[in-house]
Amino acid sequence: MTEQPTVRTTTPRQVRPAGAPADTGIRQVRPKTEGWQQAKDETGRPLLQFASPKRGKPPVHLADLTQDERVAKLKELGLPGFRAKQLEKHYFTHYTSDAADMTDLPASGREELVAGMLPPLLTEVRRLETDRGDTIKFLWKLHDGALVESVLMRYPGRITLCVSSQAGCGMNCPFCATGQAGLTRNMSAGEIIEQIVRANALIAAGGLGGKKRDDHSLDRVSNIVFMGMGEPLANYARVMQAVRVMVDKDHGLGMSARGITVSTVGLVPAIKKLADEDIPVTFALSLHAPDDHLRDELIPVNSRWKVDEALDAARAYFDKTGRRVSIEYALIKDMNDHAWRADLLAEKLNARGRGWVHVNPIPLNPTPGSIWTASEVPVQNEFVRRLNDAGIPTTLRDTRGKEIDGACGQLVATEEDEAAAAVTPVG
Ligand code: SF4
Repeated sequence: MTEQPTVRTTTPRQVRPAGAPADTGIRQVRPKTEGWQQAKDETGRPLLQFASPKRGKPPVHLADLTQDERVAKLKELGLPGFRAKQLEKHYFTHYTSDAADMTDLPASGREELVAGMLPPLLTEVRRLETDRGDTIKFLWKLHDGALVESVLMRYPGRITLCVSSQAGCGMNCPFCATGQAGLTRNMSAGEIIEQIVRANALIAAGGLGGKKRDDHSLDRVSNIVFMGMGEPLANYARVMQAVRVMVDKDHGLGMSARGITVSTVGLVPAIKKLADEDIPVTFALSLHAPDDHLRDELIPVNSRWKVDEALDAARAYFDKTGRRVSIEYALIKDMNDHAWRADLLAEKLNARGRGWVHVNPIPLNPTPGSIWTASEVPVQNEFVRRLNDAGIPTTLRDTRGKEIDGACGQLVATEEDEAAAAVTPVG
């Protein structure tokens, strides 16, 4: 049989309509909040909170400290430095903070030692399961009553935990439930790590379903996405300490940096800092619009750092680390899902070279009656096709967890959660 040459049809590039989209017949929905008011600054722009309000700090935990600091703290308590290694093994390998499990530590003073080095940080308030038990959302109460969430998801060959890095968020995105109440406070590295350790403990106890017979992957969290509550790069130092603990093979969780995704709405100076860290985590930019006109309204931090600056920083991250960057793009009906926007995005990415980026469009939840609703399936497919045809690897992302409001940008404590938390004692 003679091989036929592949005929490749290219989509004619759509020209971005100049001026008001209404004139062109293209429906354009503008972002606006529904049922709540965005806090504004003195110039009338959506308020951005970068600094954490001053609140009582959580107790210092082993995971907040470097290896040297752990040894120094033990020495201050009159204990030999090797006790740090023992505590690390209990916590990072056996996922326990219970002194009763630590029979290799001298009985005298054991309780005090464990209470001082591994203080309780998260109290479980509620747990919701979906996808036949292979997706679990946890609601945690912090020492000061603040509520945060994490979502645990089993996929074939990997287990992903979506972690929170702040209680609340100061980035004020109009579509996001988490941002509505502003930033409560930054989470400590210990509080971030504890979400993983608690998830690992649950998995080890057989509490996460869905493992297939031929799946021989390890039964512990293998992938982390910082897509829970908060903007991780606004809590830079603590998030980086947590990442160091995650990847530390000798004194931490020993995870692969590649399995850790740090995402941001585009805090450009922090992206540059992250590139210099020499920890090759996966970097994701939540772009959601390729044009400043829309992105200024959709992602208020765009008023500080524009689309092109964020994309330049993302490309520089690739240059420095060799790690392909992910662009996250929530597809919202008639707001940002237009074919011309797919073309503009492709153009902007290709202008910065080839092979450095991957686009993940994520259909929003279908929400009848809301302007924040999913694009039609043919529109989603067309968006993806145009990017792929332009040479940008693009895959629609799984929105696992959406049934329990655990999809990214939707993590927020409901009134029901608050009520449950009110009757849950801390510790
Ligand atoms: S979408 Fe992300 S950055 Fe924006 S307010 Fe929500 S949690 Fe913060």
